[in-house]
Amino acid sequence: MALAISLLLISCGNNETKTAVATMDKEFDGYKERFVAALWKVYPGWASTAGYHAYDSVLVVPDDADRQRQLEFCKVHLDSLKGYDRDKLSDNNKTDHMMMQNQLESTVWGINEFRAHEWNPAQYNVSEGMAELLNGTYDSLDTRLNSLYLKMQNIPAYYEAAKKNIKTPTAEHRQLAIDQNLGGTSVLEKDLQDALTKSHLDDAKKQAITARAATAVAAMKDYAQWLKEMKVDTPRSFRIGKELYTKKFGYDIQSGYTAEQVYEKALAHKKELHIKMAVLAGKLWSKYMGTGAKPADTMQLIRQVIDKISLKHTHPDSFQTTIEKQIPELTAFVKAKNLIYLDPSKPLVVRKEPAYMAGVAGASISAPGPYDKGGNTYYNVGSLAAYTPEAAESFLREYNYYTLQILNIHEAIPGHYAQLVYSNQSPSIVKAIFGNGAMVEGWAVYTELMMLENGYGNNEDELWLMYYKWNLRSTCNTILDYDVHVNNMDKEAAMNLLVNEAFQQKAEAEGKWRRVTLSQVQLCSYFTGYTEIYDFREALKAKMGAKFDLKAFHEKLLSYGSAPVKNIREMMEQEMAGKK
Ligand code: ZN
Ligand code: ZN
Repeated sequence: MALAISLLLISCGNNETKTAVATMDKEFDGYKERFVAALWKVYPGWASTAGYHAYDSVLVVPDDADRQRQLEFCKVHLDSLKGYDRDKLSDNNKTDHMMMQNQLESTVWGINEFRAHEWNPAQYNVSEGMAELLNGTYDSLDTRLNSLYLKMQNIPAYYEAAKKNIKTPTAEHRQLAIDQNLGGTSVLEKDLQDALTKSHLDDAKKQAITARAATAVAAMKDYAQWLKEMKVDTPRSFRIGKELYTKKFGYDIQSGYTAEQVYEKALAHKKELHIKMAVLAGKLWSKYMGTGAKPADTMQLIRQVIDKISLKHTHPDSFQTTIEKQIPELTAFVKAKNLIYLDPSKPLVVRKEPAYMAGVAGASISAPGPYDKGGNTYYNVGSLAAYTPEAAESFLREYNYYTLQILNIHEAIPGHYAQLVYSNQSPSIVKAIFGNGAMVEGWAVYTELMMLENGYGNNEDELWLMYYKWNLRSTCNTILDYDVHVNNMDKEAAMNLLVNEAFQQKAEAEGKWRRVTLSQVQLCSYFTGYTEIYDFREALKAKMGAKFDLKAFHEKLLSYGSAPVKNIREMMEQEMAGKK
């Protein structure tokens, strides 16, 4: 009898906890909806980009009052979040809660401490938002043109506010702002005129739009001119320094490691990669270089073999078909090796890159936004048609027979595309908006290694060598970012790292140098996420021994959506320990 009662009590207790979780979750779901509705009011431009079009006609003037509005929004919602006990929420809501809090704290820090609005003039540019309105397909062209007309009204005030904000621009961001604003005027000149020709608006309206566009273009040009003439006695360095870097890394990456730890890991990883590459290049030497004498310098040895292997590549007119053919092969391999379940009802559509995209060769995934659930996921493949024969050859050597396969693993299967399908299964508007970049990129980078570990490409030495070169890129991205922003690395040393130690072409290395002078932390997301997922897997394997199931691990890991890896790890470990 006593036993029965105590069992009853236990189960009662459980039910109460379950009911509490369900109630709390329901409340939190309602709160998330209100939060997102409020978010879009404060950030109408972001709303349009996310596919929520109620505020398409609004352009926020980035003045002091706007920053106050943002801070107020953050304060209110940081307060509200405190009202929801994370431990009483489902995993999906728990991660949403953490990501919302991180986003709000990051915004407060950005306005009060990081203060990019004072030193990055390139963050002021209306052309992208205008181009989105012109290229959108969600509504009729006439409706979009009407929104654009209303949105243009604030453009002069927008640039006046920008001028007031800018205090100590870095030389690099200043030049970028000049180039991009001058370049962006074509959207309101040429693209807008093309759209007006196709529209059914009456002539009076067309003239009004054209006149307003002229005023807007004048404001953009005036801003560029003002930047050119601006006297800056002590321009700020583009290097943000250790303190800001450490903080920004915390907010942007949300890693279980500190920036410094990740940097140390990247340095050690680079060393390991060099050792493995030297062994493979030595093995492959005579196959590719005949009886030529092996260079004594291992970096030279590796480079020469890589250069030869890169000559095996597809041709400009078969670039897309080569990619297309690989997708079913990758799917079949994943299935045969039992690596992760791929939902056959959600096929990936390979298409030629649409004209409004950059028109750069390469490949990228276009996923439907949070407000376009039924939309297709596309694998956009750029055309090499506009390339000179020399440029096409150089591109195809970079994306040669081997690296093209790794690219497809990364972008499509089982990389970004598979991750997307899984994250859509536990739909969360919060993760769709604030999705963690290190998890998303980390997964894609992790799958490259995982596929090869499982025998993809028959363990061919060439594929492994080219994979290591590919992996060196994300490894050195991290080293470069930290060294430049924290350790004052100069351009010469950076070029030496990228060209001599990561075996990049000079043009690629130049592009990377430019990117590191204009961005901070983002270059770390690939290696950090990859390392965290890999380290977690290895720890689990060591703990579980023969019971470890790779497929189950992958599916569980992805089931949390694009949450930070450290949070996913925590929840998986808790669940395994039987704590819930
Ligand atoms: Zn060739
Ligand atoms: Zn990626």
